[in-house]
Amino acid sequence: MVMNGKKGVILGVANDKSIAYGIAKACAAQGAKVAFTYLNDSLKKRVVPIAEEFGSGDLVYPCDVSNPQEIKDLCESLKRDLGEIDFVVHSIAFAPKEGLSGRFMDVSKDAFRVAMDVSVFSLMEITKELKPIMSENCSILTLSYYGGVKYIPNYNLMGVAKAALEMTVKYLAEDLGKDGIRVNAISAGPIKTLAAAGISDFRFMLKWNEAHSPLKKNVTIDEVGNSGMYLLSDLSSAVTGEIHYVDSGYNIMGMPAVKFDEEGKPTIAWNGEK
Ligand code: NAD
Repeated sequence: MVMNGKKGVILGVANDKSIAYGIAKACAAQGAKVAFTYLNDSLKKRVVPIAEEFGSGDLVYPCDVSNPQEIKDLCESLKRDLGEIDFVVHSIAFAPKEGLSGRFMDVSKDAFRVAMDVSVFSLMEITKELKPIMSENCSILTLSYYGGVKYIPNYNLMGVAKAALEMTVKYLAEDLGKDGIRVNAISAGPIKTLAAAGISDFRFMLKWNEAHSPLKKNVTIDEVGNSGMYLLSDLSSAVTGEIHYVDSGYNIMGMPAVKFDEEGKPTIAWNGEK
């Protein structure tokens, strides 16, 4: 199995719908030992049974990334319980509600700071704190979205955060390359999760992506999980600084290849094929 003997930590499981859960499942299925973190006590109740499902009931730690001490404590706990780690998953994002609808220019400085702190700077802080316990071929993975590259309705502040996150991946990849550590992101297509519920009109986004992607379907957390496992494993040993799209190909489209029928259903491609 590809991940046999690998040990790592996954930050960002809220429940079994989380993208981080899909990544944990794929890594565990390939033999990895996975440690988990939770944001607060109400999420702890959900994360502990998930960790137990993967045989990691004794590897569950608190970590609110807006609290630097909790990141330091996480490092100490991982050092004590796992020694070295071979992979880190940062599947965390947050923006205050005001940043996810309405006029973009009205976003407050406070909301901007919180979104950038939790969704972007946390990747740098986690990387720096965990670096002393990272193995030589350690692989770090974060999650992005196309709204960081092009305008997406209502994604607003999170779009700016994802743009910053994607550049953070590239600068970290260069910086850590000399230590043999790789840093990549998956830009996932829209998936119905707790975080996604905060984005206005999310159901429309799902329908739009399904209709306009080459594969004509939305992606699942298992599909993102499998690609994540590849980026965390030695299979991708020459891949770093990459923003890898797992979006049914949506990002390559310059113009949708469908027309809509009277009921609003996408049916006929421009070339006349069904
Ligand atoms: P999710 O709600 O399951 O996961 C988000 C996680 O962020 C939760 O576990 C939450 O506890 C954690 N989090 C928020 N604030 C935190 C803090 N201060 N400290 C520690 N953890 C904190 O939703 P998800 O969709 O699985 O999101 C995971 C990642 O995937 C996010 O970066 C998100 O932007 C990204 N993403 C999601 C989609 C999508 O459509 N769902 C698409 C592309 C990228």
